[in-house]
Amino acid sequence: MTIGILALQGAFAEHADMLDRLDTAHVTIRKLADLERHFDGLILPGGESTVMGKLLRDLELLEPLRERICGGLPVMGTCAGLILLAGEVEGGAPVFATMHVRVRRNAYGRQDDSFDTEDDFRGIGRIPMTFIRAPYIVSVSGGARTLAETGGRVVAAREGNQLGCAFHPELTGDLRVHRYFLDMVRAAENHI
Ligand code: GLN
Repeated sequence: MTIGILALQGAFAEHADMLDRLDTAHVTIRKLADLERHFDGLILPGGESTVMGKLLRDLELLEPLRERICGGLPVMGTCAGLILLAGEVEGGAPVFATMHVRVRRNAYGRQDDSFDTEDDFRGIGRIPMTFIRAPYIVSVSGGARTLAETGGRVVAAREGNQLGCAFHPELTGDLRVHRYFLDMVRAAENHI
């Protein structure tokens, strides 16, 4: 199994480290030609969603990746990556718009702009969560389901083969969310 990591900007190297620890091959996606390489799942990292959205458009990666996600390619978006997947972005334009979630960017305000906590993640248990200028999910609709909440806010959701986390599982050292995603990828492969 090989995982593609969108590596235009932001915290992509940390995801690569997590995959190394899980003995999982990965390739970086930086340009159109990289899409010719084989990958079974895709990670959209944290960073700055408006910058990533612009780069995706400028590099002509947006449509081909969107098509693959719509075609069932398993994808995990963390923080800015979740914003890229969201169908609705408050006060802004959606990017892939493949998930039925509405997100609020930089939702925790200046005081709480970065923090660590711990809470339950459905199907995994209690996990550490690191938030950095994070969004939260304002509403979940269609086929999307809440996977985690903390402080009364939805912070992780899944819709089919798409997983979105408002926090950064790649920064906590805890491998379980990545393992959960790799299980999704494996399950998708078995259906083909
Ligand atoms: N605030 C960033 C955005 O709106 C997300 C922050 C992050 O990915 N750590 O895109």
